[in-house]
Amino acid sequence: MQINAIYPGTFDPITNGHLDIIARASKLYNTVIVAVAVNRGKTPLFSLEERVEMVNSVITEFTNVRVIGFDNLLVDCAQQQGATVILRGLRAVSDFEYEFQLAGMNRRLAPQLETIFLTPAEQYEFISSTMIREIAQLKGNVACFVPETVLQRLTEKFN
Ligand code: ADP
Repeated sequence: MQINAIYPGTFDPITNGHLDIIARASKLYNTVIVAVAVNRGKTPLFSLEERVEMVNSVITEFTNVRVIGFDNLLVDCAQQQGATVILRGLRAVSDFEYEFQLAGMNRRLAPQLETIFLTPAEQYEFISSTMIREIAQLKGNVACFVPETVLQRLTEKFN
C-alpha cells in the first residue's frame, strides 16, 4: 500500500529539528511532501519562495521527499497531493495543546486523514525557527541549529 505523508509548517526557516523529522519520515512513508504555508497570520521573515528554496536545497539526499508551497486549507492540499497522513513534530509538552487542537480540527474537516506525530532526537528538541531568527538577528551563532544554506541566508538577511 502506498502511503504518502504531508509535513506542513511555516519553515521560517527550516531547522535541523525539522530536518530530523523529515529524515525519520522518509524511512516510514513512500513519499513525504514538505508543505510550506504562506501563513498570512505570521508575517514570516523569509518569503514563501525563499522558504521553499531553502527546503529544496536541504532535501536533495532524500529521493522520496519533495517540497511545495501552499496557500489553501491544509486538508484540501493534502487531498490534492494524494497524502493520507499529516505529519507534525512534537518537541516539549508546550507543543501538545496547540497540536492536539489542530489535529482534532483537521480530523473534523477530513476524517480520512490521520495526523501522526514524530519526536526529534533530543539535541533538536529545543530548536525553534522563532529562536533561530531572534538569535541570528542579534548576530548570535546559529551554525549548529540550521543547515549551511540556511545559515548563509540568515547572514545575508541580517547584514
Ligand atoms: P507551524 O507554524 O505550523 O508551527 P513550524 O515551521 O514552526 O510551523 O513547524 C512545523 C512543524 O514542525 C510543527 O509540527 C512543529 O511542532 C515541528 N517542529 C518545529 N521545530 C521542531 C524541532 N526542533 N523538532 C521537531 N519538530 C519541530
